[in-house]
Amino acid sequence: MTSSTNQFIKPVTTKINSKGNLDIGGCDLVELASGYGTPLYVIDEETLRSICKDYKKAFANYPKTRMMYASKALCTSAVTRILDEEGFGFDTVSAGEIYTVYKSGVNMQHVLFNGSNKTFEELSMALSLDVGRISVDNFYELELLNGAAAAKDKIAHILLRITPGIECHTHEYIQTGHLDSKFGFDLTQIDTAVELIQTKYKNIQLHGLHAHIGSQIFETGIYPDEIEILAREIKRLDEKFNLKLDEINIGGGLGVKYTEKDVPPSTYDIGELIINKLNEVIEKYQIDAPTVFLEPGRSIISTSGVTLYTVGSSKQVPFGTKYVALDGGMADNPRPSMYQAEYVADVANKKEVTLKEKVTLAGRYCESGDILIKNIELPVLDSGDIICVYNTGAYNYSMASNYNRVQKPAMVLVNNGDAHIIVERENLDDLISHDVIPDRLKK
Ligand SMILES: *Cc1c(COP(=O)(O)O)cnc(C)c1O
Repeated sequence: MTSSTNQFIKPVTTKINSKGNLDIGGCDLVELASGYGTPLYVIDEETLRSICKDYKKAFANYPKTRMMYASKALCTSAVTRILDEEGFGFDTVSAGEIYTVYKSGVNMQHVLFNGSNKTFEELSMALSLDVGRISVDNFYELELLNGAAAAKDKIAHILLRITPGIECHTHEYIQTGHLDSKFGFDLTQIDTAVELIQTKYKNIQLHGLHAHIGSQIFETGIYPDEIEILAREIKRLDEKFNLKLDEINIGGGLGVKYTEKDVPPSTYDIGELIINKLNEVIEKYQIDAPTVFLEPGRSIISTSGVTLYTVGSSKQVPFGTKYVALDGGMADNPRPSMYQAEYVADVANKKEVTLKEKVTLAGRYCESGDILIKNIELPVLDSGDIICVYNTGAYNYSMASNYNRVQKPAMVLVNNGDAHIIVERENLDDLISHDVIPDRLKK
């Protein structure tokens, strides 16, 4: 069994350097914190490229694989450039993500547009920019998209997002493939959708089916189950409608290792399982080998990201918890308060401290639920210490807010001893830049 980068908690370049400080991508984290301020998102390029290679190698035996990075995990222009260089396409879910990848110079044929409630404006934009595929989620959207395409005298190239009725054991809020889900066409609605496309929606061309089961998945069996259903439907639609579909999109969802408790599968095991299953259904249903889209988000970007914080105040509750407050929290990482997500952290600047204690790392935001890590054993902390929280690349910056009117952090890309700002820290003027005061209230 070959291991892959999503199976590690820390970036592959993590080490203790000659100064005794934590070091990632050849950069001293204490120096990054003092140079760029905290909270600071750090992305390790080597880890990011390493997981890309894991995926590509794992699927090398099925040349019709199309890797599409799910941008919603972390969408910035520099990260987009790296994934484009690695040969990935992009799964996007909004005008903002489409715009970001477009401005980053991505071939728009390598872009897919997903989402359960796309607007007419977003669909029109996707058509104008020649986005390769649109995954249509529901009947309302079929009608909307056909109208948008007709207005431009274009053909919209689509997949149908379906809900295959597979449950996976992940957090309730990140399951999407079970029957009572807000996403996609129910299996019983596919035929009506196909009939409408064949008879009424002249500006739509259907290429295949799409499903996405959930996120932070550790069970490998769901992918073969999903392929079985998608292939069976393709065969059935061919027999019933004489419809040749040659694309299936099996979504994303592969898990990562936030803490020791998490045991995500390797991309190599998943790859082998998926390819074997594809070959099996191609044989069983006598269908042409389909082009297979994968849309991993979390497993691509999570491990390469860490967040640096500075320790501020602390509070020892008599005979209770010791709270240590950091200068960030739920606005830069909403996952602990949203999903009870757990993380691992280290002190970046403590070298040979042997005295340890159990503390709770609390955020700075005005909510009792703003706790980043409960009961973690760390060297005794002083204010000014730098904390490094691991595995924050996915769904941290992309879910960040300005709660408490706090500026969003900066992001740096580290590689081989070089550090580059890839997202600038917001300043106070950024925070008020969209505010408008009506004349009658002006001073
Ligand atoms: C969120 C999402 C993904 C990516 O999921 P990850 O768990 O981050 O890999 C892929 N496809 C669709 C349709 C999604 O909604």
